[in-house]
Amino acid sequence: MAGLSPLETEIRRRISAAGPMPVGEYMGLCLGHPEFGYYITRDPLGRRGDFITAPEISQMFGELIGLWMATVWTQMGSPERIRVVELGPGRGTLMNDALRAVQMIPAFREALVVHLVEISPALENAQERTLEHLGVPMSWHPTLEDVPKGPAIIIANEFFDALPINHAVKTARGWHERQIEIGPEGKFAFTLAPDPIAHFDMLLPAGVRAAPEQSIFEWRDDKVAMNLGKRLADQGGAALVIDYGHADQGVGETLQAVGNHAYADPLTTPGEVDITAHVDFRALSLAVEAMGAEGFGPIDQSTFLGRLGIETRAAALKKKATSRSASADVDAALARLIGHGRTGMGELFKVACFANASVGVPPGFA
Ligand code: SAH
Repeated sequence: MAGLSPLETEIRRRISAAGPMPVGEYMGLCLGHPEFGYYITRDPLGRRGDFITAPEISQMFGELIGLWMATVWTQMGSPERIRVVELGPGRGTLMNDALRAVQMIPAFREALVVHLVEISPALENAQERTLEHLGVPMSWHPTLEDVPKGPAIIIANEFFDALPINHAVKTARGWHERQIEIGPEGKFAFTLAPDPIAHFDMLLPAGVRAAPEQSIFEWRDDKVAMNLGKRLADQGGAALVIDYGHADQGVGETLQAVGNHAYADPLTTPGEVDITAHVDFRALSLAVEAMGAEGFGPIDQSTFLGRLGIETRAAALKKKATSRSASADVDAALARLIGHGRTGMGELFKVACFANASVGVPPGFA
């Protein structure tokens, strides 16, 4: 067909050859196809990109996380070597702000080695440009499993929402995997696998099991969460996971596409728009904790940043502001990061921590 993107052509070929494609496989290809995936071909972040994230809104976010990391390191007994790992570091903005803030704790600065887990060559370049001036040892890896052994402090902001999500739809016969086919009009359309998924009910919380027919349940592969939990339990350290999502499990579809700061249809223009889905923090915690790590939270982003002292930091930045508009920018960023309701991230975004039992209660979770 003329006018189709190379990724759409490839997905169509795969569906023609192998039949309808599970939602998770489709999402994985849209974002991470090695040649045409959304994250592989571009830097989607920032005001001129497709979406904006907390560290891109204000330096306060990364700075507070830097101080959080330093406190965790102290709670770990100030080890001489500590791996600071970021999953999906975007443009490297969070890490840059975090490491600038910890300059006042030289022993931590000297102990740390940075590891960036990234699939996007475009963003890896951006991270290198942002971070090279820091002069700290730094390396890139395709997955967390590739990061060398040793105690680690791991940060993941808006990483888990980009991992593929699967859908199951309830019918009178059970839960069927939701798939993508080429519909009657020649466009991608949702369909259901003919047979229910065997024993799916057993994996579901009671409230979800009792949901009415046509309900959609979303789940992610637990592999990344389980590897994270195992690493923390075996090697020591803590992980901070920040993402939009829910603390309780329920039914409902959260798959969404965003392009150029506006909602889009996830089934059109694959590879051209970002696709995400809410993080199920309950499922995430169960998987991490099953491997022996301790879990804290999730708590609202507004609660977490409030406890870390974002108001004080904002007041200090406003004092230093050289113009009225710079001072107003700090207020606007603060409102965006901790505000409730639809325009703020304070309620929608949740923060969870997972840690080796030796770390104790991490800062912000007491
Ligand atoms: N944390 C950054 C960027 C969030 S966007 C911020 O807050 O601004 C998601 C990030 O995760 C991007 O860097 C993207 O390239 C990366 N990413 C997405 N899927 C990934 C995967 N499977 N493995 C590694 N990195 C991934």
